[in-house]
Amino acid sequence: MPSKEDSNIHPTEQKMPSQIKIVDAPNEVIDIMPMTKNVSNKILWKELTPENYFKQEFQKELIVLHFTAGHKWEHAYDKFLTAPQKLGYRMAIPFIVDKKGPKYFIQLFNEKYWAYHLAIESVEHSRNWANDKRSIAIEIVNIGPVRLNDGIWKDYYGNIQSANDIVQGRNKDADGSVKFPDEQVEAVCRLVNHLCDKFNIPRQVPQNKISFQLPEIGYFKGITTHEMFRGDKYDMGIAWPWEKMIEKCNLKEV
Ligand SMILES: [Zn+2]
Repeated sequence: MPSKEDSNIHPTEQKMPSQIKIVDAPNEVIDIMPMTKNVSNKILWKELTPENYFKQEFQKELIVLHFTAGHKWEHAYDKFLTAPQKLGYRMAIPFIVDKKGPKYFIQLFNEKYWAYHLAIESVEHSRNWANDKRSIAIEIVNIGPVRLNDGIWKDYYGNIQSANDIVQGRNKDADGSVKFPDEQVEAVCRLVNHLCDKFNIPRQVPQNKISFQLPEIGYFKGITTHEMFRGDKYDMGIAWPWEKMIEKCNLKEV
């Protein structure tokens, strides 16, 4: 349901709020999902300010998976918190899933609202940010792509990564990608199941998991990833265990 506040402007032209108020987010922990054996159902509520996202509701019919390209959820949180000042627009996502033994899902704003998270630059494909509005984004803490040089795996930042933690395979100019711990995969699947039920999002995923698929993907309903919308992105790449997710979330490949 588009509102009158809805605007047609590019994020880089998004008007800066005159003053950003940084408030202490309450560290309130709430139960939202049924318990599983290995994964807590706790959500750490770390609310962003109302200047970080848009309090406008659109029908949700899409989930977009991202990884943070970092090691800590706090870094992703800070990036979203400071986006209006540093980037000049409201870049944020409602959920972060932590890396190891996730004690918490971190929630940054109510997922019925929206913020920019895809940054589709083409006006034709963006269709007035339709995909940002109709989607719920999940950031998964993971360092992402790695490259092999003289037998040594290095991540994005030049840090050495153990070969045991790598799934080998090409994605763009990367030679591999860092694995996701099982508990984290299970946590993401629980969250996706919860969101599919709550918003009636179709349980389907494209056959091709790592290719750029605009404009078609702009009309898809179901589970997607950032790189399906952006040819220059690496998330989710080759390490995301789709077989497991398809089984746990009962997804159809279409
Ligand atoms: Zn992304």
